[in-house]
Amino acid sequence: MFKINDNYLKLPGSYLFSTIAKKVSAFQAANPDKMVIRLGIGDVTQPLAPAIIDALHGAVDEMGKAETFHGYAPDLGYEFLRTAIAKNDYADRGCDIAADEIFVSDGAKCDSGNIQEIFSVDNKIAVCDPVYPVYVDTNVMAGRTGTYDPKTEMWSDVIYMPCTEANNFSPELPKETPDIIYLCFPNNPTGATITKAQLQEWVDYANRVGAVIIYDAAYEAYISEEDVPHTIFECEGARTCAIELKSFSKNAGFTGTRLGYTVIPKDLKCGDVMLHSLWARRHGTKYNGAPYIQQRAGEAVYSPEGKVQLAKQVAYYMNNAKVIKEGLQEAGYTVSGGVNAPYIWLKTPDGMTSWEFFDYLLEKANVVGTPGSGFGPSGEGYFRLTAFGTYENSVAALERIKKM
Ligand SMILES: *Cc1c(COP(=O)(O)O)cnc(C)c1O
Repeated sequence: MFKINDNYLKLPGSYLFSTIAKKVSAFQAANPDKMVIRLGIGDVTQPLAPAIIDALHGAVDEMGKAETFHGYAPDLGYEFLRTAIAKNDYADRGCDIAADEIFVSDGAKCDSGNIQEIFSVDNKIAVCDPVYPVYVDTNVMAGRTGTYDPKTEMWSDVIYMPCTEANNFSPELPKETPDIIYLCFPNNPTGATITKAQLQEWVDYANRVGAVIIYDAAYEAYISEEDVPHTIFECEGARTCAIELKSFSKNAGFTGTRLGYTVIPKDLKCGDVMLHSLWARRHGTKYNGAPYIQQRAGEAVYSPEGKVQLAKQVAYYMNNAKVIKEGLQEAGYTVSGGVNAPYIWLKTPDGMTSWEFFDYLLEKANVVGTPGSGFGPSGEGYFRLTAFGTYENSVAALERIKKM
């Protein structure tokens, strides 16, 4: 008789987005005349930029001719894309990352979920709280997290690093020493970020205790302030302790097109085993590479036209972020984020819980957001709004919120 991986049964139901959908459709059914504005979405809405569409068309045509047809892609990605990444995202920032330390993939969600399998099941992970749920859930599936306590909403073998107003939503070094540390800056859901000096402390700490940092930089393109690192490899010593995850989803609108990459420096070792070798082996065995067409589209992200067009897209979302953030501040809310990330994190008023505020906002302003408690216990009392909607809707939502 076969047995299942019963770690899957330990996963608590993820009701966040289905509960939101149910509440919104019940409200719409009861109030058919009300126009609901959704500021809860974590997906981009602007169409792909012209430079990317041109690259896609060109690559599709190539696939239709024997001379330029492409079959299986190289496991680790096409040289043209890895070279463009190494130059634009690393060399141009003064970071020492070679093209052959870059693994092209179909996105950062898969990579952030899969990367844990090159580590022993005995490793202890540390995560920020609130957190992007993929990091924790994939470690649950692997059997690395102990038992779940529904009361505290915490796993017995996970180190939680609260990110709250008290620490400016940037975690402190944990008391208990972890083996694997997940960091994501600029952060989803809080929109917070970390200074280069703070990130350097994490790198020094990881090197000192022999931990590895898995650094999710999916929102790097939204950084607007000087002192905020664009990559963990800006920090000295990161080559011996850090893995970086990047995505084309948020900077270039590839959420439906799918493309990302992971950087593993060859200096990152356990004894004399390079993690690079393990991940290369994993890619070679379980993955047949991101499609040629998408990789050509990814290359266009780094073209001069592509850069100009994508900077405009990011600026469009960040203008929404400004409208939302300043509007909330005028209405008397305590707000953070929205400066280096498309997420605005607000403190619920009058001690409301995250869900109480969700209902209040839906009822009074017909605006949908995401309860902070859905991202972890320290998210209770907070609420996330996103800048991924249209400008018109962002303005209209704030008009309504100011009148509540
Ligand atoms: C959106 C997002 C990603 C990107 O995932 P893709 O699979 O590349 O679309 C990664 N990490 C975080 C925290 C995100 O919010």
